[in-house]
Amino acid sequence: MQKSPIRRSNYTPRNKEGLEGIIELQLRVVSDYLHVGSGKYDVEVMKDVSDVKQLVEDYLNGVSKGIPNNVDQYFSRVAFLMVREKDNVVIPGSTIKGMVRSRLELSIPGSCYIVTGPSTSSSAVYKKIFKPDPNRGSDRFDVDKFPQVCPVCDLLGNMGLGSRVSFSDFVMTSGKVDYVKVKDRDYEVATKGSIFTGRVLYKSLKPVELGMLLYGFGFVNSCNSSKVMLLGRFKFSDKRFGRVQFSLKTPMADCNKLVSDFVKQFNPRNINEEW
Ligand SMILES: [Zn+2]
Repeated sequence: MQKSPIRRSNYTPRNKEGLEGIIELQLRVVSDYLHVGSGKYDVEVMKDVSDVKQLVEDYLNGVSKGIPNNVDQYFSRVAFLMVREKDNVVIPGSTIKGMVRSRLELSIPGSCYIVTGPSTSSSAVYKKIFKPDPNRGSDRFDVDKFPQVCPVCDLLGNMGLGSRVSFSDFVMTSGKVDYVKVKDRDYEVATKGSIFTGRVLYKSLKPVELGMLLYGFGFVNSCNSSKVMLLGRFKFSDKRFGRVQFSLKTPMADCNKLVSDFVKQFNPRNINEEW
């Protein structure tokens, strides 16, 4: 299920003259499986609708007596499905945005925590990896450090504050979809090596904020390839799941410098997500 973005009002970009552009990214599944769920536990019709129609018509017209015994091939297994958009398996832009946002919130000392939900924050593995600050919460940023606004909210938006970055869905462009059983339920997954591509649009950014955005995608050392990032179901409970790496589809001028300038100014925690 895709979360609808929070509506924002009275937004005036404070940095009208800033940078704008598009970052084209590629996400590669580096663990055995990736499951980003649609929230649907369902069957999926595998064949063309016209085939199914024909099957039903033949049955109704008495051409075939009874439902043919190969009818199983018309349906997938009952499983937790991935998200689909026009027949493509996708990772919703809102999921990607949540991933970037949570990394920035956890990395930048003094920012607030908007993203982290109770189901995530109770995980022992999550706590071990990210060591969240118990004094942070939604809208609880460090006013000594940031007198006006939390820098992550300033970049990605908050109630009454527009986002200056927008995330497209990431569409699966190569790889394989399979089914994996976890605790007696089947999950539709993208398997290791599968590639998803997507875009990030930004406007009115300062160079250091563009560096921040790149850092949020895991480009913490170099822009050639991101660190391993955790994404989707079971990322904290099953090592076969949820590890991805990003790369830039089109090179970006001064990318490494944008990131290192961000690091110099904000002194973020470099979090190793591999466990
Ligand atoms: Zn914030």
